[in-house]
Amino acid sequence: MLTGIHVAFIGGDARQLEVIKRCIQLDASVTLIGFDNLESIFTGATKRPLTCDVLRDVDALILPVVGTDDDGYVESIFCSKPLQLLEEHAASLQKHCVVYTGMAKPYLRNLLAAQQISLVELLDRDDVAIYNSIPTVEGALMMAIQHTDITIHGSQAIVLGLGRTGMSMARALHALGARVKVGARRQEHLARIFEMGLTPFHFSELKQQVSNADYIFNTVPQLVLTAEVIAQMPQTAFILDLASKPGGTDFRYAERRGIKALLAPGLPGIVAPKTAGKIMAQTLSRLIAEQTITRGSHHE
Ligand code: NAP
Repeated sequence: MLTGIHVAFIGGDARQLEVIKRCIQLDASVTLIGFDNLESIFTGATKRPLTCDVLRDVDALILPVVGTDDDGYVESIFCSKPLQLLEEHAASLQKHCVVYTGMAKPYLRNLLAAQQISLVELLDRDDVAIYNSIPTVEGALMMAIQHTDITIHGSQAIVLGLGRTGMSMARALHALGARVKVGARRQEHLARIFEMGLTPFHFSELKQQVSNADYIFNTVPQLVLTAEVIAQMPQTAFILDLASKPGGTDFRYAERRGIKALLAPGLPGIVAPKTAGKIMAQTLSRLIAEQTITRGSHHE
């Protein structure tokens, strides 16, 4: 339970609604900042403006998945007025307050570090990244189906990277009957790919591996699909780049060669905001409860 804990939310999208619901269920005291246009106000939550006073007795501050932009603006689909998190706001937080977000830009990191306020980036956590890989993969399959005229079953599919998203992607493609090759650079990843019944190859062989690819799903956040690699692909290949912006594909060259290549960021929030919200809610409520237990034991 979160009884006696003050949780404040600044902005967000549909995912945040699941987290708010969960905090109310767990009996936290909930303040909503930047939710002016939210019609069904949750009973048990109070809507307030973004002021230093409102933030003064907050124990956990929850920001959207992309915390702030480079100037401190927080996105909210529930509010038409701009929300800007400034130094004075960070300074008004109690020192034990923890700020939670999906991933933080340097602006937010620096703002909180200057006030010695802890920041938790949820998408860095293995558990959240693995749970999130489920809606990500479903979204990727949806896009692959929409943008090609062949079945995934029987296709030649390449997955780049065997991290948290890559592994789920490779497994789903295999289950759908694709012939799956996975590119990785670590020997233990190559061994795991083999163990999964898939075809491993080292990244150094990427150029030679793409010549008969129908689908290429990239999860490596580095430029790996260079012009040199794309030049070896059949023109019918479809590249879906799942890596964070700007992706790992030379999109300019792909377009020049007439190869369809798409960057697909933020799939969980697009294809399954409710599930994505539940993933956040589950982890956040556990972390906030742990945060208070730790604080309690420090005070004993
Ligand atoms: P991850 O677990 O860190 O996996 C990344 C993989 O890339 C690892 O296997 C890593 O291998 C490999 N890699 C990194 N740099 C490399 C390089 N220079 N050459 C070869 N391999 C390299 O990350 P993740 O959670 O799977 O996420 C992957 C990307 O997808 C991230 O950019 C993330 O932000 C993004 N993402 C997007 C969505 C979406 O909706 N599109 C959803 C979730 C995540 P090593 O272990 O050898 O470094």
